[in-house]
Amino acid sequence: MGEYTTFLCRECGYSAERIRWGVSVSDPRQRFMPAYCVECDAIAEVDLTGADLMIDEFTCITCGSELFFLEKAASYTCPKCKAKDMKLIQGEYW
Ligand SMILES: [Zn+2]
Ligand SMILES: [Zn+2]
Repeated sequence: MGEYTTFLCRECGYSAERIRWGVSVSDPRQRFMPAYCVECDAIAEVDLTGADLMIDEFTCITCGSELFFLEKAASYTCPKCKAKDMKLIQGEYW
């Protein structure tokens, strides 16, 4: 199931809110994942709905550069200050 996820950096206060992560509750075809954009120094959500699994390159809608998916991990690196001290808050299902 997909949740709205908030990434919050304890170090610099950066936050990426309401990133959809997982598969939609109402429509299982809809799938989103969080990813880093190194150009924007930000976490963005990527729409994987109907995406071909053979394609593993996705680009930032803001700047067009390649995005790097966030894997589920024990700690997340802040895109702004690079501190490995990001808090992850799982919100409601989408
Ligand atoms: Zn930070
Ligand atoms: Zn970007």
